[in-house]
Amino acid sequence: MKKNAALQNRFLGFAFCILFILGMGGCATVPKGTSGITNLKDLCDRNGVEFDWDSVSQVVTLKGFNLRAKVLVGSDIVMVGKDKVTLSSRVKRVRSSIIVPPDFEEKILNRFKTGADFAIKKFKKIVVDAGHGGKDPGATGKSGMKEKNVVLDIARRLAKNLSQSGIEVVMTRDDDEFLTLEKRTEIAARSNADLFVSVHANSNPSRSIDGLEVYYMGQFLKKDKKEEQRLKNQGILYSHLEMEQGSADLEKILSDMMHTYKQAESRSLASHVASDTAKSSGAMTRGHKEARFFVLRNTLIPAILIETGYLTNAREEKLLATDDYRQKIADGVAESLCNYVK
Ligand SMILES: [Zn+2]
Repeated sequence: MKKNAALQNRFLGFAFCILFILGMGGCATVPKGTSGITNLKDLCDRNGVEFDWDSVSQVVTLKGFNLRAKVLVGSDIVMVGKDKVTLSSRVKRVRSSIIVPPDFEEKILNRFKTGADFAIKKFKKIVVDAGHGGKDPGATGKSGMKEKNVVLDIARRLAKNLSQSGIEVVMTRDDDEFLTLEKRTEIAARSNADLFVSVHANSNPSRSIDGLEVYYMGQFLKKDKKEEQRLKNQGILYSHLEMEQGSADLEKILSDMMHTYKQAESRSLASHVASDTAKSSGAMTRGHKEARFFVLRNTLIPAILIETGYLTNAREEKLLATDDYRQKIADGVAESLCNYVK
């Protein structure tokens, strides 16, 4: 038995080596870019972009003007500044060259030429998550107004505004249905969206407390990164990507890159949305705050949770009951997300 297992292991190791060599050396047809050049080093030289390849981590760093990009060899992902850009196919290493797909020049290198990174709309696809629903009413106001209904209405208005601005929207629920928190984060992982926005309304035993708050996940603990749902979502997300299957190193690098991006972006965005929305809606704001909510912990993309006001506060409950105020909140959030460029 032992001998058989050892033989089998050796065979598997050998087969893996062959596959690896084929994978590295293969590629009979190399796609051509608009310029006819698909060799990344040549493309960079031509565009005056600095090229630095770390063969251990398989990451190519591109530098130019104020912009920096990280090309993850073996995947179709490039981090440009704080943006995650998906290419039409994966970046490959062919012998000693890095070969990029035809859309690389347009999607990545053009940004180095024009500084266009600062002018384009940041988010192309946003998941809008109306909190609670179905058997879970969320907070209840003195008048009996339920959070699940208020936030669904605001979420619908927000989705409409974003769509009208050309942003694709995925709603986790568009009805009075119950959804687990796990399911909400799974929808985000499957959607291939850039951002997750959860909409809620707050409650407090003290009825004098009022104001809008925007939450983001601060420091992740070691155990957070290993949370069951997070790992599951990671699997879902990676299965979408054009990536060398089962490459643990690539997955680790990608996971670290996305995590760093998520943290920086969520915090900055929470701050913007809180102040922009308060300004345009006239809402009193309690600012942006850290919280360890499940949906913030277990989404892999930047994520914020907006508490649109306190249903337990008589003044805000009255406001949140009106179409006008709900629309103002939705307008404020949508505008803030559309104008966000950092
Ligand atoms: Zn809630």
